[in-house]
Amino acid sequence: MATKSTSGVVVTGGASGIGRACAQAVAEQGRAVAIWDLDPAKAEATAAEIASETGVATFGRGIDVTRTADFDAAIDATREAIGEIGGLVHAAGTVRAQSIGQLDEAGWDFVLNVNLRAFPLLVQALHADLKASPGASVVGIASIEAWVGNEAIPAYCASKAGMLGAVRSMSHRLAPDDIRVNAICPGFIETPMLAPSLAAPGVREEFSAASPMGRIGRPSEIGEPAAFLLGNAASFITGQSLIVDGGVLAIV
Ligand code: NAP
Repeated sequence: MATKSTSGVVVTGGASGIGRACAQAVAEQGRAVAIWDLDPAKAEATAAEIASETGVATFGRGIDVTRTADFDAAIDATREAIGEIGGLVHAAGTVRAQSIGQLDEAGWDFVLNVNLRAFPLLVQALHADLKASPGASVVGIASIEAWVGNEAIPAYCASKAGMLGAVRSMSHRLAPDDIRVNAICPGFIETPMLAPSLAAPGVREEFSAASPMGRIGRPSEIGEPAAFLLGNAASFITGQSLIVDGGVLAIV
């Protein structure tokens, strides 16, 4: 049965990098978007830019996704601003370089709380809205580090692998409600998060060479697959993770 995919989409981390590109790609399909990000000014400015570039309704909201008590007010304000909510992208993310020997509880919890814990709690808070929106879809932005171990960032690797488990579990629970749940696992993408690493001598060359395509990815190369998974063209895809890495994991 054909379902519509014209409802609005909430994008956490939507004011920067991959989240912004997801919001842009969704807006280019004519769908309203809500940019949720830590800095209210950045969220509002990004929403205004996307509205002026695409003509769709947008809304910017400052929110810390670890503060679950703020979710309901943000959802109410979003619904009021852009109408029906039929999609979520959880792109808000963070990383701390703390390997074994350097771990502390606060650092571990910080990464897990933003990247993983917020995700199912956001889906739960949006459940009624998503259920009321035919063909609703959720996309978690995971990482290739859900699949391979990076010794420097165990909390990050655990958060992203955990996201894939949450995707599979939620896809089961939410399928009867006509809500699909998937993840994208990006490789190396040119964003502010990766910028400090890329600035170190030789790292840009090393990351580029890890891909048989010989380059770092563009944020839009994650945004477009996210818009696909959010839309009706992906109407039979749920519980999956799509690796979008320029072939990094395909080679040794
Ligand atoms: P980015 O440019 O730093 O964007 C992340 C956004 O999330 C920022 O605007 C950040 O705000 C926001 N954010 C952080 N903590 C938040 C919180 N508690 N509540 C709300 N917003 C919060 O990074 P990116 O590279 O686009 O990353 C997006 C997602 O892709 C992340 O989940 C990341 O793990 C994942 N990813 C990235 C790559 C890559 O190579 N870039 C590869 C694989 C996966 P502030 O800037 O104010 O902190």
